[in-house]
Amino acid sequence: MGKDAGIRIGRESGCRRCGRKRGMIRRHGLRLCRQCFRDIAPEIGFKKYS
Ligand SMILES: [Zn+2]
Repeated sequence: MGKDAGIRIGRESGCRRCGRKRGMIRRHGLRLCRQCFRDIAPEIGFKKYS
């Protein structure tokens, strides 16, 4: 215990933006759901995703 304290995100595989697990995109280690991905894709350099 305490070994990984503060490092864990808190969720196993939820979107790091909204926490949802629906339509998760785990490409490039983004760990975002499709909704959030499409939302911030332009900001992070992924302009093409449809
Ligand atoms: Zn999301």
